Amino acid sequence: MVENKENLLYFLDNKPYINMTNACSNTCVFCVRDQKEDVQGAKLWLDKDNTTALDVIEQLNASKDRLFEQNEIVFCGYGEPLIKLDEVVEISKYIKENFPNLKIRINTNGHANAIHKKNVAPILAPLIDSISISLNAQNEKMYNKISNPKIENAYEEVKRFIRACVEEKIKTTASVVVGVPDYPIDAKRCEEIAKSLGADFRAREWIKNGY
Ligand code: SF4
Repeated sequence: MVENKENLLYFLDNKPYINMTNACSNTCVFCVRDQKEDVQGAKLWLDKDNTTALDVIEQLNASKDRLFEQNEIVFCGYGEPLIKLDEVVEISKYIKENFPNLKIRINTNGHANAIHKKNVAPILAPLIDSISISLNAQNEKMYNKISNPKIENAYEEVKRFIRACVEEKIKTTASVVVGVPDYPIDAKRCEEIAKSLGADFRAREWIKNGY
């Protein structure tokens, strides 16, 4: 078997992240994917973008010692991890069995149910500890402006997915990025929406050219 040399597992401030794909069903104005290939020196753009679960597992095992020192691992890379749902499930099962010290979080755009045409929250619930879902805006108009979704009714889909994760008792956080020039986000209203869906809320400041 040929070893996959791409950065499928990377570390930021010593914390581990899994980078599944470049593909995404959004084109957010603040996304760094189209601006540069690396995040803090880790090249995340996948030239082949044909990652298998086994490719990731091999990289996890190659960094065993470092991973045993950590308490959380996050699916978060250049694209939308839940586009590769089957692989995320297989990798999460492996982590649970082999790295019981690691809690598992997924950072997602919240389109998974629309993409896979089924409710994936019950599939994820036994495997992950938390999920962070990009609510991104206070209404559909602003969402479409800031996220440029490639799927229909994306804003409603995101809210439905937040609710679905809450119903499965996954620790769920709805997030927004504030401070992007020309895209005024009403964080207070977004927080109200998050709470009405049963989720926690997090606003993070936009950082030019980075996460
Ligand atoms: S959802 Fe995330 S990966 Fe997708 S375009 Fe937006 S910032 Fe980039």
